[in-house]
Amino acid sequence: MNKGNIGVTSDNIFPVIKKFLYSDHEIFLRELISNAVDATQKLKTLASVGEFKGEMGDARVRVLIDKKKKTLTVQDHGIGMTAEEIDKYINQIAFSGAEEFLDKYKDKTEAIIGHFGLGFYSAFMVSTKVEIFSLSYKDDAKAVHWSCSGDPEYTMEETIKAERGTDIVLHIDDEFAQYLENATIEGLLKKYCKFLPVEIAFGKKKEWKDGKEVELDEENIINNVNPAWTRKPADLKEEDYKTFYHELYPSQFDEPLFHIHLNVDYPFNLTGILYFPRIKNNMDVHRNKIQLYCNQVFVTDEVENIVPEYLTLLHGVIDSPDIPLNVSRSYLQSDNNVKKISGHITKKVADKLAELYKNDRADFEKKWDDIKLFIQFGMLSDEKFYERAIGFALFKDIEGKYFNFEEYKALIKEQQTDKDGNLVILYTQDPDANYTHIERAKAKGYNVLVMDGELDVHAMSQLEQKGSEGKKDDEKGQIRFVRVDSDIIENLIRKEDTAKDSYSEEQHEGIRKAFEALLPKTDRLNYYVSFEAAATDALPVFLTQNEFMRRMKEMSAHQQGMNFYGQMPDQFNLVINTAHPLIQDLFGKMTSEKVMEQPETKEGEEPKAAVEKTVYTLAGEDERMHQLIDIALLASGQLKGEALAKFVNRSVSLL
Ligand code: ADP
Repeated sequence: MNKGNIGVTSDNIFPVIKKFLYSDHEIFLRELISNAVDATQKLKTLASVGEFKGEMGDARVRVLIDKKKKTLTVQDHGIGMTAEEIDKYINQIAFSGAEEFLDKYKDKTEAIIGHFGLGFYSAFMVSTKVEIFSLSYKDDAKAVHWSCSGDPEYTMEETIKAERGTDIVLHIDDEFAQYLENATIEGLLKKYCKFLPVEIAFGKKKEWKDGKEVELDEENIINNVNPAWTRKPADLKEEDYKTFYHELYPSQFDEPLFHIHLNVDYPFNLTGILYFPRIKNNMDVHRNKIQLYCNQVFVTDEVENIVPEYLTLLHGVIDSPDIPLNVSRSYLQSDNNVKKISGHITKKVADKLAELYKNDRADFEKKWDDIKLFIQFGMLSDEKFYERAIGFALFKDIEGKYFNFEEYKALIKEQQTDKDGNLVILYTQDPDANYTHIERAKAKGYNVLVMDGELDVHAMSQLEQKGSEGKKDDEKGQIRFVRVDSDIIENLIRKEDTAKDSYSEEQHEGIRKAFEALLPKTDRLNYYVSFEAAATDALPVFLTQNEFMRRMKEMSAHQQGMNFYGQMPDQFNLVINTAHPLIQDLFGKMTSEKVMEQPETKEGEEPKAAVEKTVYTLAGEDERMHQLIDIALLASGQLKGEALAKFVNRSVSLL
């Protein structure tokens, strides 16, 4: 029997393993199974080059639980280890300056595991004792038994073992009794080992028979050793990609929209399949995440630092041995390989979208509503992606026709360029609510876009900004998005200087105050009264909402630091159309010559103020004022409850 101390620095390693790795202790199983798979694959490689001439035999890796002995065993039939090899690979933890290293990385223990060959030692996180039984494939090799109870002392001796390969036996600490439960282990195997390249067996297959679950004679194999991403795209049919999608996300019933098969071998290695899901709403987005693998071993589904954030909306797998998996997250972002990988994936995704757009525009249009959120997110967060995507990002108008940005600009250029040479894009967020405004825009020959997506407001701002890049504020040829109800149609796209009415300032003031007095007052809504000599066939009174203020408010809903706008009340303009006969009649009545020329002035009162007051009083007495305000509110969907009932009754009595 051979006794010894593990390595020079192990005094420091065990406490680190035990203490600092608690948060992620389940990875021990992944580490041990990875070693078992490696050992099996190494033997296969040796066999293929003729260095191993024996029988491969049963190559499965098995995970066995013995509840009585409280052990968990990972068993392989790979190359095995001789006593010398155990000494070299297990006893001497092969890096110099380990003490220093451990000191430095105390809080980043993930960095140690795996990266520095401590994978095997992670077994001590959950065990009171770990044993190795191993028989090397080498001729005349003797079986070895190694045992260690989590202190730096170990024992090593010859033993008898019939089968080639290695058994790692973990005596599970009572504190971690869950690792002796079948369900826990099966769950972990499904999580980490689902696509390992060597079969992993755990227990027996089960089947439901006559309402009971019965064990079959067959072993229960956890994994698919040939997952789709490891195969050549040429060998896969559309159906295979879909099947794999459901294998990856067993609880996902929707079909993906399309996929991208990634396959790079220079300057880094990367394979994988990305799927475009149907993104229905925000809730859905992060239910199924991209899974990151390293040589078919599951590593994580938190890929935020490896791919740009908008790509995390996609589903699928990425497998790369070149991503430094065991380093801290902040380090990942600055890693050059990771940057290249992220750039590559971005390019691939853009290529695929461009190809779909080019090859089957009709199909692309059909899928557009489902991928719009993703593409806009990408355009907003990644300049390079914007440049690619601006060619295929689509805009839908109220007729349901799709255009890319260039096509759309060409379509409306003639009609929707204002007197200052700016291109004005009209849109609605709710075609039903904006019905009246849309009808008026259509009558003018204008087109209206539907921009009801979650990121549309941001996307519009970006397009406006891009459109005026390099231009001064007042320079011609800017692009402006304007919601169709944000002003009267004549003002949305100004073709000439606005017409003025002929009423005096006092008359305006009197009427304004009369309307203001009748408008509803709440904390969340502010109304301002203004005058426009709009068209005679426009409504006499209507509401508009300032584009800038409204958009700022909407954007603040998504962005921190913009709360200032978020807390502002909604502001609407009540526009009084002085070109409308009804309004002219109202003005006429209240500003008759008698009133204007001989205002009843009180002592010391200015005649102007007296006119204003008279107009105000007269207007306030006119039944039609209420009705006009209610019509304006009604046309914008703001007349509700009691106010609506009053309106109906008043309308009836007026009739
Ligand atoms: P890593 O796997 O990162 O090299 P480990 O501490 O997990 O670090 O393992 C150290 C070495 O021990 C491995 O590189 C391998 O040579 C050897 N080893 C571990 N497990 C086995 C096994 N099941 N069969 C054969 N060799 C093994």
